[in-house]
Amino acid sequence: MSEEERDENAVGPEDEEEQIEVEPLYQSGDDAELIMNSLVKNDQDFEHLKNLPIKIVLKNKKMTRAGKQVAGKMVKNNDLQSALTGFDFVMVLDKQVYNSFDADRKEWLVYHELSHIGYKLDKNMDPKFFIKPHDYELFVSEIEKYGADTAGLTEVKNAIQAEVRDIIEGKG
Ligand SMILES: [Zn+2]
Repeated sequence: MSEEERDENAVGPEDEEEQIEVEPLYQSGDDAELIMNSLVKNDQDFEHLKNLPIKIVLKNKKMTRAGKQVAGKMVKNNDLQSALTGFDFVMVLDKQVYNSFDADRKEWLVYHELSHIGYKLDKNMDPKFFIKPHDYELFVSEIEKYGADTAGLTEVKNAIQAEVRDIIEGKG
């Protein structure tokens, strides 16, 4: 037996007490995957995702984008990563944020991240998938100053007006 092996085997009760349980940085988001599978199966918006292998992981560390905290992100694997993992996309969700959400907000978050997967058909009519940016990126102050239509937000305004109507009519 070498010197090193003897040292490794010489773990007494004192050492065990000092061990701190370290949570892994990433873990499988099984609960979120159930939500995703149900959305992909039932929501027409995600018809194109039916056969696309997507993995969800929870990250045990605050996530930021351009200095702002975000709840999640969608990552497209390169060919090598896809071949090694079997997944073309990975949805990474902030574990703490995700766990703090109620069922509705969890579904909204998964819906939002799935919406980042865009696709188009190539000349052989095979789907090509890519990361799609947000429809809108702007400041609240510009809507306040110029109004929704001038700020190019007519669709958003209409969607919000429809929701307000539903609430007033008791459908929301
Ligand atoms: Zn987003």
